Amino acid sequence: MLHDQHMHSHYSTDSKEDLKAYLDIASKLGINYFITCEHVDYDPPSFDKSWIADFDALRVECKSLMPLYPNITFLYGIELGYRPDHLDDMNNMLANHKFDLVQLSVHDDAVHDYYLKESFLDTYNDLCKYFDKVLEAISNFSNYDVLSHFDYGFKTARMVNKNENIKLYEDKLIKIFNKLIETNKTLEINSKVQSTINDDQYLRYILNLYYKLGGRKLTLSSDAHKVENYRLNFDKYMTIIKEAGFKYLCYYIDRCEYHFDL
Ligand SMILES: [Zn+2]
Ligand SMILES: [Zn+2]
Repeated sequence: MLHDQHMHSHYSTDSKEDLKAYLDIASKLGINYFITCEHVDYDPPSFDKSWIADFDALRVECKSLMPLYPNITFLYGIELGYRPDHLDDMNNMLANHKFDLVQLSVHDDAVHDYYLKESFLDTYNDLCKYFDKVLEAISNFSNYDVLSHFDYGFKTARMVNKNENIKLYEDKLIKIFNKLIETNKTLEINSKVQSTINDDQYLRYILNLYYKLGGRKLTLSSDAHKVENYRLNFDKYMTIIKEAGFKYLCYYIDRCEYHFDL
């Protein structure tokens, strides 16, 4: 069974979940790999300090848990927030810690927090700027494996205007997807974002566009911040991904790509 590659625990500023809660579920399901991708975000605009997970403490705790879960291999991940004014910090973080998977995210532009509806009051123009920022991130920074939730901002904008149409941004999506393909990176389908957008036609459109451009590399991850969301709606989204023609999903060990056949 495919393991979830994007969860947060109490090592992330915005989660209180215990590692053990996820491990108990994974173990019950017979899953072989365990990985969280804890947050590192420099100077987030809505908070007074940076979000920096204590990866050393995480490793110590994981080591103490390993004997309780002999059938599970422990892996280490990071969700690194892109900030052009912190490129050195981002690179240093990756130089100083060993990760199995590096997910790149765009959570803010130093002024606007894309989690907040107030960042998308002029939805069309704000979304244009948001997608431009995502393209900038993957053009400026290459030391990552998976682009997380490319549609994080779109999900927020849809809360402001539920009729917001993704097709208006197709030229920008094409640039983002082409850049991912050209640089051999992987697109995350984030099941929490998909469950919030809650529109299967939307997901089918995204998948078809990516596939048509030559994109084959996807991950499916929940972005769970609490154990209830572990592998959120995986069966449903796996079916839609398979129907769109994709033959496998990617997972990562020691930053090497492996395939889970669909
Ligand atoms: Zn994120
Ligand atoms: Zn996340």
